[in-house]
Amino acid sequence: MRDFIQGLPKAELHVHHIGSVSPRIVSELASRHPGVVPTDLEELRKYFEFRDFGHFIDVYLSVVDLVRTPEDIRYLTYEVARDMAEGQSLRYAELTCTPHTSVIRGIPIEAYTEAIEDARVAAERDFGLVLRWIYDIPGELGVPAAEATLGYALDHRVDALVGFGLGGPEVGVPRPQFQPHFEAALAAGLHSVPHSGETTGPETVWDAVRLLGAERIGHGTSSAHDFTLLEHLAEEGIALEVCPSSNVATRAVASLEEHPLRRFVEAGVLVSIASDDPPMFNTTLNREYEIAAELLDLDRDGIADLARTSVDVSFAPDDVKQRILGEIDSYLAG
Ligand SMILES: [Zn+2]
Repeated sequence: MRDFIQGLPKAELHVHHIGSVSPRIVSELASRHPGVVPTDLEELRKYFEFRDFGHFIDVYLSVVDLVRTPEDIRYLTYEVARDMAEGQSLRYAELTCTPHTSVIRGIPIEAYTEAIEDARVAAERDFGLVLRWIYDIPGELGVPAAEATLGYALDHRVDALVGFGLGGPEVGVPRPQFQPHFEAALAAGLHSVPHSGETTGPETVWDAVRLLGAERIGHGTSSAHDFTLLEHLAEEGIALEVCPSSNVATRAVASLEEHPLRRFVEAGVLVSIASDDPPMFNTTLNREYEIAAELLDLDRDGIADLARTSVDVSFAPDDVKQRILGEIDSYLAG
């Protein structure tokens, strides 16, 4: 099953740009910018062993601090794409970027955009991986960050930008304040993909659906506690991006055994299996598929169906969707 999943052509819809850096990439960045982060791979693995969520945030931010120049961004993006394509048979990914964290560290948005676009074109050419961007608001920085992120999206728009998101903590960050920004992004033709219901209850998912126009939900774990909400998500075809290992690591769910994935599927909700910040949660998209297969008791056909759903609910161009769906069919037949 592990080999089958590894070779299965896949799309990944919930994965963070800087959160995808493997120890190999961090080591290179740390040697460019010597400081607290180790360069030795063995030491780095230990550095990535999180004691709790607070420690995870500290480590994450220390990695964010290693990304200081446009060349760092280009390198990171290209190497993340290599890991996705070579290790995990990814054909398409919507990478969630948080341009604001780079801009406030001194990288102009023009240089930022040029760096990710340069890496995107090179990754498609060299690895056959099609990348699209989702810009997310770092929610903890509030309305000013939302306004800035909307500006990056609309005033410095690139064709590969498909979605507008919202990340960071949910507790103490009310969703209604971001309604005007999501309305403007939707009006400009971007898709709405906020995180919600990861660390707060189903009311945050309702806010995402009713106020932010969510077309997919990042996590939405707590939707499991509200059957009316599950029915609504199923009826409207609003998919949940489900990242099991991340949910356990952040204590959104107590254990994999208690993960509500099966409840979502039984309620008819579309689910897209995803990896969130894979190296930081000691996982890969392949591993998340293995976990899902176990939780849902799936055979090869069932696993291929999961992969198809991610393609279906993606914002990939139609020809890319058809190509990957065709590849999944031939893989299954072969
Ligand atoms: Zn996320």
